Amino acid sequence: ALVVRQRMKNSGRWARAMAIVKEFEEKCGTPEGKLKQIADAMAVEMHAGLASEGGSKLKMLISFVDNLPTGYFLFQFIYFLSVFLDEEGVFYALDLGGTNFRVLRVQLGGKEGGIVHQEFAEASIPPALMSGSSDALFDYIAEKLANFVDEEEQIFHQPPGKQRELGFTFSFPVMQTSINSGTLIRWTKGFSIDDTVGQDVVAELTKALQRKGVDMRVAALVNDTIGTLAGGKYTDKDVAVAVILGTGTNAAYVERAQAIPKWHGPLPKSGEMVINMEWGNFRSSHLPLTEYDIALDVESLNPGEQIFEKITSGMYLGEILRRVLLRMAEEASFFGDEVPAKLKIPFILRTPEMSAIHQDTSSDLRVVDNKLKNILEISNTSLKTRRVVVELCNIVATRGARLAAAGILGVLKKMGRDTPGEGPGGKTVVAMDGGLYEHYTEYRKCLENTMSELLGEETKSSIVFEHSNDGSGIGAALLAASHSLYLDEKLS
Ligand code: BGC
Ligand code: MG
Repeated sequence: ALVVRQRMKNSGRWARAMAIVKEFEEKCGTPEGKLKQIADAMAVEMHAGLASEGGSKLKMLISFVDNLPTGYFLFQFIYFLSVFLDEEGVFYALDLGGTNFRVLRVQLGGKEGGIVHQEFAEASIPPALMSGSSDALFDYIAEKLANFVDEEEQIFHQPPGKQRELGFTFSFPVMQTSINSGTLIRWTKGFSIDDTVGQDVVAELTKALQRKGVDMRVAALVNDTIGTLAGGKYTDKDVAVAVILGTGTNAAYVERAQAIPKWHGPLPKSGEMVINMEWGNFRSSHLPLTEYDIALDVESLNPGEQIFEKITSGMYLGEILRRVLLRMAEEASFFGDEVPAKLKIPFILRTPEMSAIHQDTSSDLRVVDNKLKNILEISNTSLKTRRVVVELCNIVATRGARLAAAGILGVLKKMGRDTPGEGPGGKTVVAMDGGLYEHYTEYRKCLENTMSELLGEETKSSIVFEHSNDGSGIGAALLAASHSLYLDEKLS
């Protein structure tokens, strides 16, 4: 009788757990019709954001980049440098985005033009600095940069007295006031340093560099999407859109200057302006939000903001999964009589781990078993249980990837490139970057398949995704290069 009762109890629990999964799956649904509504809403918001400042949740920020250096342009520039200044160009770049930051040294020039040499160093941002003071963060960055510059110059011998130029990739929403200045609108992705908001981040960096005694000029301030667009365009002229899917998410694209009513500055010669959409802050009643997403948002550092980012990007996918599993543990004893203590810790389940769980191809789901043990201290799960965990990863990742695809469709619509044969040469290249895109294979496959599904047979071959490896850092250096020339002219 005891055994029978235990079995009944177990099957009751299982049924409750499955009901939670089923409900979650339904709420996460992204049928094609819904995705098209989301794409339309994205295009509508793009118009509104370009029309007036504050006209939309989409900031549609003006980047002040109106001319993307192509290989040819840069070749000319390097030629100019070598003939007139009799030296090759060395440029530094600093890339501050998610939890890591990088410093790069890019050497341009040589007889053929192009990138001759490239070095970089990477460091993680200590979590305490993400919510400390502005000075503490920028001092830390300046210190790392100073060390890197010292090491590099011991090897490469910078000529004394030569002004060093820096491209600063700063991957947060910035209201640019020029190509090399701009104020932080707000932090995202787990950063929360009040005294930086409203400040010019180039001034903050420059002051910190001075404190460390580094002589360097910030020649360009760019968002990572802008850097990726510039880096992508340098190698492929058909690049017109850049999308980041990493810790956070965002997109940039080339807009006609005349289609930007809120731009009152001089009309650029190219007739174009690169726009940093800040699509992470997109929001629409069509978005499939669940109770887990709403709770995540409410408890986040930036409630009410970055809603699209919170259901699409790498910082949050693992956390959504954790929240569903916790609910199943609490309400359906999914992992046994006790709720695993570790499962209660926010952000303990990171997206790279979720990706490993999702993509476990072993017949007994060994990886899933390991991850559950090592991260959450949950052991002795049945194969059936592990299968459900994998299925949950699939639900969360599929929704994110399909939404990202809908976002890209929205951008293509706004650009008039969502139908066959439009756009110069009929081909549009989307430069993609970010850890989520790069490493989460199932996510990337789903994104690309959804794109084909949404575009249809005739159009899908004219839209090409290209992984722009490290584009944002190199792009920033390229923009610094092309802009430093301009600064020199202006100062002389
Ligand atoms: C930021 C964007 C950035 C994106 C990807 C978002 O959280 O607001 O500026 O481009 O993350 O790094
Ligand atoms: Mg990055």
